[in-house]
Amino acid sequence: MTSSAQPTSGKLTSAEPSFETLRERFDLPEGRVYLDGNSLGAMPRHVPQRIQDLLHQQWATDLISSWNTNGWIDLPQRTGNRIGRLVGAAPGQVICVDSVSVNIFKLLALALNLRPGRKVILTAEGDFPTDSYIAQGLAQLLGQERCELRRVPMTELEAAMDDDVAVVMLTQVNYRTGELADMPRVTASAHANGSLILWDLAHSAGVIDMGLDAVGVDMAVGCGYKFLNGGPGAPAFAYLNSRYQGQLDQPLSGWLGHRDPFAFSADYEPAPGVAALQAGTPPIISLAALDASLDVFDNVAVATLRERSVLLTSTFIDRLEQAGLLKTCKLLTPRMAERRGSQVSLAHEQGWGVTQAMIDAGVIVDFRAPNIVRFGFSPLYNTVDDVETAVDCLEKVIREEHFLDARFVHRPKVT
Ligand SMILES: *Cc1c(COP(=O)(O)O)cnc(C)c1O
Repeated sequence: MTSSAQPTSGKLTSAEPSFETLRERFDLPEGRVYLDGNSLGAMPRHVPQRIQDLLHQQWATDLISSWNTNGWIDLPQRTGNRIGRLVGAAPGQVICVDSVSVNIFKLLALALNLRPGRKVILTAEGDFPTDSYIAQGLAQLLGQERCELRRVPMTELEAAMDDDVAVVMLTQVNYRTGELADMPRVTASAHANGSLILWDLAHSAGVIDMGLDAVGVDMAVGCGYKFLNGGPGAPAFAYLNSRYQGQLDQPLSGWLGHRDPFAFSADYEPAPGVAALQAGTPPIISLAALDASLDVFDNVAVATLRERSVLLTSTFIDRLEQAGLLKTCKLLTPRMAERRGSQVSLAHEQGWGVTQAMIDAGVIVDFRAPNIVRFGFSPLYNTVDDVETAVDCLEKVIREEHFLDARFVHRPKVT
């Protein structure tokens, strides 16, 4: 199932680095606690040097030969295979390209082509908006006879699966609540209905050991810049189960997805494998930063990271409870660890002010409209001490009502 021999137990094995060693590999700001790795992962210390080498040696000196000699041309697939190990995909099924949004477009269009006679894209209300926006754009492009978005409450998802559903699209960890969907169950239901399934792993890749091949997932997408720490705007990834490769009929049929790009032939013919999801030239500098960042995961089993993540989120919820904070803040995240990703979300009527007051006090969390404060825990670099600091900080902000401070009224473009 995985591309290389890796420890599978949830305990640290002698082959795995300690969590202190892993944390040491990150360049984290002194005196602050970073709990936003679910939005922008922290930077591993070795990345700047790798990018320097790429700029000075590969670009400035080796110049165009780098496409071959420095392996630039294969970087989307090489990096994809490394992510494949983290999501339980055998080599040759994951490629690092474009953004999550663009990858969803390609895969939804492919899914509709693979299920002729069915036109519905089924999804759950409350998932990350871009997924639905892309489906709406595709429906508009293809017209009502060929594509329709059906959005239902999560509890009604399975009941809404009928003969019209070509593909079910779902996020594994909800960005607002941190709730973890039951991937094996929903995948099996979609398949029993004759539908394909597309999972969005934006908030789960690198922290949940989901085993895409073992579950039999058809398609998936995920972010490079969240828990994978690939840097701002890092390329996303797309997974396509090998059973669909060779029939890769997707509309962004660019030259680098062609069977033989350098033949420069007049007509498009898709590459046989997952490479056909590539349209244009990959952003090598961004991709190299993501590839370098993935070194931190070497010799670490995702099951170990999951265990660490559960420890952090469980401790956090316990401490919130003990501090009486769950009376003033509403816990939106499931208490059962099996139903939770690597974030904890609290609703507070002054959520924006609470977030800003915490950041001001050195605990970096983030806010999602209308009133949600999110605490993201990266098992690679967050510690139980970080948990304690965050709870103490929140307790003080609430008790002293720092969220009412006039300095925290302004809301910038990015929240
Ligand atoms: C962060 C996130 C995205 C981001 O998509 P991009 O197109 O890469 O900006 C998409 N889906 C979910 C669920 C996310 O959390």
